[in-house]
Amino acid sequence: MDLIDCKSLTIDQLRDKLSGIGVPAYRAEQIRSWLDRGTDDFDSMTDLPLSLRAELKNIFWIPGINIKKRLVSKTDSTVKYLYTLYDGENVESVLMKYRHGWSQCLSTQAGCRMGCAFCATGAGGYARNLLPGEMLAQIEKAQADHGVRVSSVVLMGMGEPLDNFDNVLKFLRLLGEPGGVNIGMRRVTLSTCEIVDKIYRLMEHKLQLTLSVSLHAPNNQIRSRLMPINNKWPVEQLLKACRDYGEATGRRVSFEYAMIDGLNDTDECARELAKRIKGIHCHVNLIPLNQISYSENTLRKSGRERIYRFLSLLKTLGVNATVRRTLGADIDASCGQLRRRYHQSL
Ligand code: SAH
Ligand code: SF4
Repeated sequence: MDLIDCKSLTIDQLRDKLSGIGVPAYRAEQIRSWLDRGTDDFDSMTDLPLSLRAELKNIFWIPGINIKKRLVSKTDSTVKYLYTLYDGENVESVLMKYRHGWSQCLSTQAGCRMGCAFCATGAGGYARNLLPGEMLAQIEKAQADHGVRVSSVVLMGMGEPLDNFDNVLKFLRLLGEPGGVNIGMRRVTLSTCEIVDKIYRLMEHKLQLTLSVSLHAPNNQIRSRLMPINNKWPVEQLLKACRDYGEATGRRVSFEYAMIDGLNDTDECARELAKRIKGIHCHVNLIPLNQISYSENTLRKSGRERIYRFLSLLKTLGVNATVRRTLGADIDASCGQLRRRYHQSL
């Protein structure tokens, strides 16, 4: 019989499994409380009888996660973690301080299959999907290590959340559990390169999370050059899905747009973008491209002046847009860069 991943169960599911082997319900709370504190072996759960600990090991397993590296920004309060998972895979996560509290950027996969031209994660290859409990554990470890309480979450680390759909959905359920990390759906942002059929599946769940779409180009010609997924789901279908998502959930969609010198940052691109997203309840985030340093990559970030001209053009055309503040620039806080560097130095 396969062992059950104990950390990815909701408290009700854990209670059910325990009652199936005749263990009283209150033991579920005890186990959950150890798990929430980052305990990843049953032997350390000292308020459980020895016989129960032995029995649990025959039924469950706990995917462990450890901090391999911690980088603290000298210019702001950002902290970047490199975690090692039970099988030796590494993922990154970033803790950021905002006026309203601490926000954490989480990884949903070890690597990514989408292969976007500008992204360090894509360049590092794909290893596997993360388990729901491994997503939750990134928060628990950071909270314990840094002595803070995380109040909002962005799924904008390594990986494509919609490519790990079922586990991400289970994780979102765990995230809102009272007694645990307890972060509500309105404080969650899910960033996606937009796998359109999965957007529609997500819509059926009517979650109150914010959808952040990595658009990066106003047309198929430029987007397909940057993002292979665009060959499967072109801009027209992507924008239709965003429109439908906004209407079905009443939530404002956010578009991410990394500014790349001479490619997607022209006045013409700004006008085309404004025209295409007209009528969608949305916000555009302009981000200076974070240049990744591998020689074959020739994408350069746009100059400051260009970015602000693009911004003002969008605003003139009635688009709600801002330039995103970059936190932790001195510690490679964009996900994927630390893991890649670590792999290269092995
Ligand atoms: N796979 C998801 C979430 C992870 S990537 C997605 O693509 O949305 C998180 C965000 O970082 C995305 O908006 C992505 O386009 C952006 N990104 C990746 N590499 C970047 C880089 N080098 N410079 C700026 N933004 C980058
Ligand atoms: Fe994957 Fe997102 Fe990076 Fe594209 S930008 S390779 S989808 S992590």
